Parts: sequence; C-alpha cells; structure tokens
Amino acid sequence: MKKMWTAKCSRCPRRFRAYDRSALLSNIRKHMWKIHRNWMLARMKAGRLAGSPGNPTVGTVLTAIAQGLPVALALIRVVKKPRWDRLSEAVNSFEPYMKPEHREIWQGVKTVKSIDLRRGS
Ligand SMILES: [Zn+2]
Repeated sequence: MKKMWTAKCSRCPRRFRAYDRSALLSNIRKHMWKIHRNWMLARMKAGRLAGSPGNPTVGTVLTAIAQGLPVALALIRVVKKPRWDRLSEAVNSFEPYMKPEHREIWQGVKTVKSIDLRRGS
C-alpha cells in the first residue's frame, strides 16, 4: 500500500494529503502563497536578513578553522541543524588535508556543536 503523506498548514487549520512528499510540499506552498501571501513575504525577508550569517560555505568554515577555535566557534554556533548536517559532512571530507592542529580545532567545534544541538539551540 502506498504511504499517504499528511500535513497541516502552520497558519490555519487546513490539512493536506498526497501520495508523495514533493506533491504535498508543493500543495502547501501553493496554499501558503495564495492564502498567506503577506506572511510568506515577511518570512522571506526575515530569512534573508537572518539567513546569511547562519549559512557559511565550506570555504568560510575552513578559513575560520585556520584562524583558531574562537573564530570557528563563533561562525558555527549560529548554523541551524539541517544546514549543519550537510555542512559538517562537507567539511569532514576535507579532514585528511587539514593540518593536525586544524583537525583538532575542527574536532573541538564538532563537539561543542553537538552539545549545543542536544540542548536544542
Ligand atoms: Zn493556511
């Protein structure tokens, strides 16, 4: 039997169902833009303002690591969980090429971040 995906709009009681996840998301997005247009626009604007500092590239992270633990931590602590999962995986792939002291800093950053995430920040 096919799995039915369901979701509820975060702004009103409307519910959505679809047989695949991308169809469900696209239905929700269409509904959000039609019914909650102003809220979507405000959210996009807020996302742009808040988004860039929490969205560093792998290159930025590697540069920060080279500058030392405090710099690397300041950069990493504002990255949100979904972004962090992808980012840390990407930086991990550079580990074999890091200097031993940089690798140590990266390990420290990951430890602190995992504690932060467990606390839910
Ligand atoms: Zn709604």
